[in-house]
Amino acid sequence: MKTVILTSCNNAVEASLIQGNLANEGIESFISNENYTSLYPNMNGAMGSGIQIFVNEEDAERALIVINKSDQSIHCLNCHSKNVKLKGGKNILKVVGIMIMSLFSSKASGNSKSKYHCNDCGSDFEV
Ligand SMILES: [Zn+2]
Repeated sequence: MKTVILTSCNNAVEASLIQGNLANEGIESFISNENYTSLYPNMNGAMGSGIQIFVNEEDAERALIVINKSDQSIHCLNCHSKNVKLKGGKNILKVVGIMIMSLFSSKASGNSKSKYHCNDCGSDFEV
């Protein structure tokens, strides 16, 4: 089966996030250069490398949609404003903790929804 490079990332965390998102959509992916990049993170730009994520050619189009959708920034589901804040007194450490946890267990990511409040249109939503 033919594979294509979907994207490349600067670090293993980013690569894991993308792989997790792809897996959620049932898209198989694998990465290369991980050891090299982890050992010499500062050499990335210089060497033109990074962690490359490969997918099957037939999944490539769908995979691109997935990674575009998984833009890290959170925006309002109602008006798409990025002027949002976390609700419910969850502190940032807890959120970061959940994110780290979900890296190690793909199961956890489904249960780590956080409530947000949009400052522009006033609606509440979960991400
Ligand atoms: Zn809004």
